[in-house]
Amino acid sequence: MNNIIPNLSVALLHDDMLDKQGKVVTTSLTLLDVHDIARSARTFGLQSFFIAHSLSTMRTLASVLHSHWQVGYGATYNPNRKEALSIVQVVAKLQDAEQELLQRFGAPPKLIATSARPGAARTSFADMRTILRQQPAAPFLLMLGTGWGMSEPLLNRADYFLEPIHGVADFNHLSVRSACAIMLDRLMSS
Ligand code: SAM
Repeated sequence: MNNIIPNLSVALLHDDMLDKQGKVVTTSLTLLDVHDIARSARTFGLQSFFIAHSLSTMRTLASVLHSHWQVGYGATYNPNRKEALSIVQVVAKLQDAEQELLQRFGAPPKLIATSARPGAARTSFADMRTILRQQPAAPFLLMLGTGWGMSEPLLNRADYFLEPIHGVADFNHLSVRSACAIMLDRLMSS
């Protein structure tokens, strides 16, 4: 079963996030996240990397960066980066990413939530690996948060909630791009 490539995509989310005080907010786009998550997603054979943002200014920023490396000067300057960014899609909301996967694969994606915080009813990485390989045609969408992480209503939309990544210390609050790379290695590597 190890040579099966799961049908996984990833969504970097900015709406319905928590801030330091626990208030539900919209966070800013971090361009470094776009570059680094695109490289991880491309390396681990993901279908798409969705960047979701409700603000048109932030979507424009993501689109300008994307087209610079896809068709602008950047495309010839660094073809490697062009290839990594080729799977990026900028959308206004999570539902747009779900709709796109529904149209492409004929079924809505199963949502997989992530967080650094522990909690009940979490799916282990080992179990998620198996689930992904048992349904290789079915689309799955890994949800990544920003700020202080996803709010409760957003987390409640998910079909699965992955266990947190733990290191060896009593601190596990990774950058979203580092967390994504570790998750993809655990879920997708053969
Ligand atoms: N305390 C927030 C939380 O637990 O969600 C940290 C937010 S972190 C800056 C942004 C995102 O990175 C999280 O929403 C999650 O997707 C991911 N993340 C960061 N550290 C993680 C960990 N140790 N385990 C799982 N996901 C993690």
